[in-house]
Formats: sequence, structure tokens, C-alpha cells
Amino acid sequence: MTEQKEVIEPDKITCEACFKEIPISEAKSVKATDYIMYYCGLDCYDKWKKQEDRTK
Ligand SMILES: [Zn+2]
Repeated sequence: MTEQKEVIEPDKITCEACFKEIPISEAKSVKATDYIMYYCGLDCYDKWKKQEDRTK
């Protein structure tokens, strides 16, 4: 009998601002035009937002 091992990978995302890997459950998600972006916190979201404003 073969034992089927189910590998449950925790859903991880990469923060858009600091590129740190964090579990999706701890991430802040922001819906962009076509997709959802994730941040490890509001600090990172602010950082990213400021960067975006500067490039425009
Ligand atoms: Zn971050």
C-alpha cells in the first residue's frame, strides 16, 4: 500500500515593497487594477505607494 503524502505548502507571498516572503494570512492585500498585491504591513504599502508616486 502506498502512502500518499500530501505536501501542504503554506501560501506564501512576496511583499511588493521589501520582497520578504510572508504567509498570505499575515499579509495585507491591496487590489490593484488586474491583480492583488501583497505587503507584509501598512508600512510597506506606504513605502511602495510613495515609490510609485515618484515614478509617475
Ligand atoms: Zn514588506
